[in-house]
Amino acid sequence: MKKELKRPFLVGVTGGIGSGKSTVCRFLSDLGCALFEADRVARELQCSDPGIIAGIRKLFGHEVYAEGSGGSLQLDRRRVAAEVFSSPEKLMELNRLVHPAVYEAFHEAVEEARRQGIEVLVKEAAILFEAGRTADLDLIVVVVADRQLRLRRAVEKGLGSREEVLERMASQWPQEKLVEKAGYVVPNEGTKEELRRQTEKLYQFILQEAASCRDCSGKHGQ
Ligand code: ADP
Repeated sequence: MKKELKRPFLVGVTGGIGSGKSTVCRFLSDLGCALFEADRVARELQCSDPGIIAGIRKLFGHEVYAEGSGGSLQLDRRRVAAEVFSSPEKLMELNRLVHPAVYEAFHEAVEEARRQGIEVLVKEAAILFEAGRTADLDLIVVVVADRQLRLRRAVEKGLGSREEVLERMASQWPQEKLVEKAGYVVPNEGTKEELRRQTEKLYQFILQEAASCRDCSGKHGQ
């Protein structure tokens, strides 16, 4: 009889802007985990999915897209960010357009990982809880660091001006609220080398959890 392939253990990684979640995910990928970058997928869909493009044009105006080289579309993200910051309704509408498509892409990534026999799939998302779909994840990891440190890192990385990063911080859940919901917290206030060691510890925890999930009849393995 053909053996049913189990789905991978699903880990969500989140944290405030500049906390170090992308770095943790890169380290987890180095350790052999598959990676689904929800924010990157969302950005790609906003420039490739005809339904989403039409919806965004309706919300923010036709000229919010510019044509790039080879006919590809470029979205004026700064303008969108500024508009949604002052209009929670527009933010809700934008999320309503994009989140289902990202969720579908994640579902496809899970199926692909299952076919490939991958053990651990990591979903990186700046807004994991706000997007409202966490029930299917086996473990939620939150990366934390002091607010000033996050601000400095994000500005140095070129994610925006000080004011823009502060605005993004204000629109995200506060760190304490993320920690309350976390199954595992990774502190990131030291060096990158320390963060790598923290990630190795996290990986050992993930493997243990994945193994105990396999032994039980919980949601994993369905
Ligand atoms: P996030 O994805 O949460 O916004 P990143 O992982 O992109 O955060 O980290 C933000 C910036 O800070 C990146 O340039 C990253 O290289 C840097 N960084 C992250 N952790 C550390 C650390 N412990 N020491 C020094 N720089 C760090």
